[in-house]
Amino acid sequence: MLKGTFPIAKFQELQTPFYYYDLSLLQNTLDVIRNEAGKYGYNVHYAIKANANPRVLELIARNGLGADCVSGGEIQAALNAGFPANKIVFAGVGKADWEINLGLDNDIFCFNVESLAELRVINELAGKKGKVAPIALRINPEVDAHTHAKITTGMKENKFGINLSLLPSVFQEIKVSPHVKLIGIHAHIGSQITDMSAFRNLAIRINEIQDELEQVGLQVENLNLGGGLGIDYYHPNHLPIAAFDNYFAVFNKLLQLRPGQRVHFEPGRSVVAQCGSLISRVLYVKEGETRKFAILDAGFTELIRPAMYDAYHRIENISSDEPVELYDVVGPICESSDVFGKDVELNRAHRGDFIALRSAGAYGEVMASQYNCRKLPTAYYSDQF
Ligand SMILES: *Cc1c(COP(=O)(O)O)cnc(C)c1O
Repeated sequence: MLKGTFPIAKFQELQTPFYYYDLSLLQNTLDVIRNEAGKYGYNVHYAIKANANPRVLELIARNGLGADCVSGGEIQAALNAGFPANKIVFAGVGKADWEINLGLDNDIFCFNVESLAELRVINELAGKKGKVAPIALRINPEVDAHTHAKITTGMKENKFGINLSLLPSVFQEIKVSPHVKLIGIHAHIGSQITDMSAFRNLAIRINEIQDELEQVGLQVENLNLGGGLGIDYYHPNHLPIAAFDNYFAVFNKLLQLRPGQRVHFEPGRSVVAQCGSLISRVLYVKEGETRKFAILDAGFTELIRPAMYDAYHRIENISSDEPVELYDVVGPICESSDVFGKDVELNRAHRGDFIALRSAGAYGEVMASQYNCRKLPTAYYSDQF
């Protein structure tokens, strides 16, 4: 079976588990994003929540992308990594006062507002500083992303965004709020979307919403279509770069832009997922009555996606070329959900073999925890070896 290429000889001295980032793949991905988005003049803000590793952030910032932040800590991480404040957008349903103030003090590009209550607070806090906060309204376009329920965000009954029926009252509020300026509308329908029809539907919905806005005399300078482009978790070796070409082309074909309007995107996963792998070692091979377990030294403390979202990650034994056998690949954490995969085809495994959990660059390291008093994982980079 085709496996990823890793500097295994160098790995011998390292304490597992750790994250390994292929920075040349990240650079190639960024080149594709720049080219494809550049064709249409689109603005791309990397969604920091997918991976906030400083070296990853610095490389993305150096390539000219902006940042999409969902907390004050992420705004700080973005600034530290060199993202210019005027390319930072700030989303999130529960922005605390200090986080809003941090955004105001740094004159970030835009606050993506998710409720009427938040709008009032931003207006008040900006007023205290004698500033006018640029805002975009995060609307619920009611487009089904047909993805996992825990990562669908654009439907009506959802904590995110403002329902379409409430928009008139929000516009009313904006009119009487001197310290906010409406500069855009924003939508983000979900994550790990590989079926372009969801994005097609989003573009069409945005057109309809723009028409409705114009009927009440409103036009916005910016359209922010969020993130959500999926990657191929099954074929990281064959398809290491997401379909940015198709993705941006869908919007270019369908979006009806008004003169001077600027278009923004917030991809997270599709930028970083494939460049990262979680590297662990087999601690024990345990032969049950009917199943065989490969017990790793990595668990959901390092990579929680399988336990949290039933997510699939390709698992490779990068130390062995022996015949393939079936294993339940599990971690050491004292929870029965600490399973990376069942009936996984692995080259025959032995204690000490390196196991790579692929496509772990997004929502991997950044979600690591210290449960069971474990250490947070270290990260290594391809240019170190
Ligand atoms: C999570 C998130 C993103 C990024 O989503 P991906 O699926 O990682 O591309 C973009 N925008 C907002 C508002 C988000 O919450």
